[in-house]
Amino acid sequence: MPRDVIRELESIFGDRLVTEEHILMLYSHDASSEPGERPLAIVYPMNVDEIVKLIHLAPEYGIKLIPTGSSSSLSGNTTVKLGNTVVVSLERMSRVLEVSNVDWFARVEPGVRIDELNFELANYGLQWPVDPASSRVATVGGAISNGSGGMRGAKYGPASYWVLGLEAVIGTGEVIRVGCRTVKCREGYDILHLFIGSEGTLGIITEATLRLAPLPEAFVGLMAEYEDINNLVNTVINIRKHKLWPMITEFVDDETAQELGLDRKHYLWVGIDVNVGSEERVLGTLRDVVLGNHGVVINEARAWGEFLKILEPRRALYSAQLKVAFRDYGNDAFVFIEDIAVPMSNLPNAVREIRELSGKYGIKVLMGGHIGDGNLHPAFWTSRRASESEFRKYLEFVEKIGEVGIKYGGTISAEHGIGTMKRNLLVNKYRSLNSEATLRLMSEVKRIFDPHNILNPGKIIPT
Ligand SMILES: Cc1cc2nc3c(=O)[nH]c(=O)nc-3n(C[C@H](O)[C@H](O)[C@H](O)COP(=O)(O)OP(=O)(O)OC[C@H]3O[C@@H](n4cnc5c(N)ncnc54)[C@H](O)[C@@H]3O)c2cc1C
Repeated sequence: MPRDVIRELESIFGDRLVTEEHILMLYSHDASSEPGERPLAIVYPMNVDEIVKLIHLAPEYGIKLIPTGSSSSLSGNTTVKLGNTVVVSLERMSRVLEVSNVDWFARVEPGVRIDELNFELANYGLQWPVDPASSRVATVGGAISNGSGGMRGAKYGPASYWVLGLEAVIGTGEVIRVGCRTVKCREGYDILHLFIGSEGTLGIITEATLRLAPLPEAFVGLMAEYEDINNLVNTVINIRKHKLWPMITEFVDDETAQELGLDRKHYLWVGIDVNVGSEERVLGTLRDVVLGNHGVVINEARAWGEFLKILEPRRALYSAQLKVAFRDYGNDAFVFIEDIAVPMSNLPNAVREIRELSGKYGIKVLMGGHIGDGNLHPAFWTSRRASESEFRKYLEFVEKIGEVGIKYGGTISAEHGIGTMKRNLLVNKYRSLNSEATLRLMSEVKRIFDPHNILNPGKIIPT
């Protein structure tokens, strides 16, 4: 049977079908520690017709399909769990098809990388502001399907604000087109937004119409260090009280900072898009807030490019967290990276409770994240060879961190999605709200879009 299906796949994809063992292994998992199986094959579609043919083939041969962009997800979102899986890499569908300088939209294929898109949009003075720290590799299709946020989320919010329309092939093999080219679009149930964050479980996105924003005309920012993390958190809260609305507000804690080659202090980066002429006034207010909260300004920027340079260490947050884990356990390291967010007013409580939990469980936690929208990424690690009881302790710790998000009216997953690793947390969240019907509705939605359970099965909800 595998040979028959490979022959069928070859008839659709020709030399864009890969079955070489060493390449299959590369596509077995995402960027998280969740282990994956070797897929049956990888295919690289070039157009919607090939994807329609593939989806029609799947139930006949009992194969499952995982659409992928760059597989940079962090919750097991693209991790292969079943041997009869074909990875559908959208890497080759990466064209920017249209940019409107007046209507501020771009029509793109799903495999275009976010940085490459923004590089092109800069020629028009425009940006797609979805800005995961992985933007150099992350694709538009992956970011939409994860409902990604990122660095600019403090002002611009996540992907759900920045998609106007989609074309996708759903699990029945039908092609759907949803959304408009206008920001206002009220046409029945909002299937467009059902797709955003659906992690490849409802359909394969083949084209996206993206909402764009103008690039800032001027930009100021700074990097500050703190002895006490509470002062850093209070700075962020006071920035809001001063009604400054930064585009970027990021932090790392002292232990992470050390791994990034900085002093062992807590670091905050704040960048604000401003009108020409107001740079010094805004920067002055920002500086005063930092100083008033016992921070020390170590760098200032008066242009977007300058700010990006001082922000570089923060982009390496996950690498720094991995470095420590691999130093402790080598290739056996299993890293948990959490993704809670809480309303800003509860940030001090959330940070304090995570630190208390870390002490209570004896688990070292490195922390950083998009603090400007209340999004924290506590990371911790153990060995894959840890005893069952030791590993269970870490899983319990994951649930406790999730509870912090829930308790303060926030979320167990701000931007990374559920994948396989956060399914329990999703159940906990809706149980805590006495809203288990929500989980049932999610299963039913999945069944409507994908009646044969072909598309990324087992992700978000067990299937
Ligand atoms: C160092 C690092 C930093 C990160 N920083 C951030 C951050 O700041 N913010 C953030 O939100 N995330 C972050 N991430 C997570 C991840 O990079 C983002 O979610 C990113 O947008 C995923 O893009 P991708 O192309 O790699 O998608 P993939 O991982 O390939 O896929 C993501 C999901 O979308 C589905 N999918 C992919 N393409 C399609 C398609 N065409 N149609 C339907 N489904 C599809 C997949 O099945 C999967 O479920 C980070 C990851 C790393 C490794």
